[in-house]
Amino acid sequence: MDQAAGSRRRPGTAVSLETTASGVQALCFELKNGQPKTYLVRARKAICAMPLFVAARVVRNIGGYGLDAARHLPAYAPWIVANFLMKEFPQELPHAPLSWDNVVYGGKGLGYVVSTHQDVRVAPPAKTVLSAYIDLAAMEQQAARRWLQDARPQDLLELAASDLKAAYGPRFAGLVERADITLRAHAMASPRPGFKSNAGLQALRAVDGPILFAHADLSGFSVFEEASWWGYQAALRALA
Ligand SMILES: Cc1cc2nc3c(=O)[nH]c(=O)nc-3n(C[C@H](O)[C@H](O)[C@H](O)COP(=O)(O)OP(=O)(O)OC[C@H]3O[C@@H](n4cnc5c(N)ncnc54)[C@H](O)[C@@H]3O)c2cc1C
Repeated sequence: MDQAAGSRRRPGTAVSLETTASGVQALCFELKNGQPKTYLVRARKAICAMPLFVAARVVRNIGGYGLDAARHLPAYAPWIVANFLMKEFPQELPHAPLSWDNVVYGGKGLGYVVSTHQDVRVAPPAKTVLSAYIDLAAMEQQAARRWLQDARPQDLLELAASDLKAAYGPRFAGLVERADITLRAHAMASPRPGFKSNAGLQALRAVDGPILFAHADLSGFSVFEEASWWGYQAALRALA
């Protein structure tokens, strides 16, 4: 274990976070050239901005802050995000030009976006990336996670490409140079009835001490503005 004394910024994963007599201490982990390395970070304050299902395992005695993981953690929806590197743009129907965000009526996923859309160019690029989003909402969340765990690569590819195949038909596969599929088993907190009065989330939102909490999960639903708000609140408290 080595001390992160000189450096102000280090990548890595916090394995544990606890308060000490003078502030906080985080035990962190990183891979360096494939080798695991741990180091300690000591500070006056820490902002714990990881998802709450992770924080529940990392923050020492999170129950002391008012979160009972068994009762208060939000339900999490799993998602698949798949990036298809295209050799060229697929041909569109004359009356249905490609948009940035494209939804397939009755599709299995939430459609796909054109990830080169915001490239500033005088002409469209030769190649592009189409990013497909699959919410797996047809399955119960735990069952969907199990499905993801056991699925064969070809099953994942089939589901990930289903909206694109519906849009472009059999010619789609021949246009794909490469597909990168990311499985996000706990991608987004899903609000359930009563989420606004979740006592555990209310308690974490009010914490003002050496450890501060900030994540969209504090709101109980997964929206960027919520993440931004709790980050701002935590920063104000850290600087006070
Ligand atoms: C597929 C998908 C599509 C979405 N689309 C939209 C959208 O269109 N609009 C919208 O508003 N929101 C959208 N969201 C939700 C949005 O992404 C989240 O609300 C937002 O990212 C939450 O930000 P955050 O900073 O709270 O947490 P996160 O983005 O979850 O960041 C948490 C960070 O903590 C890090 N971390 C985790 N564990 C540890 C650890 N032990 N130690 C150190 N670091 C750790 C993670 O690596 C991550 O960087 C989408 C989410 C998904 C999954």
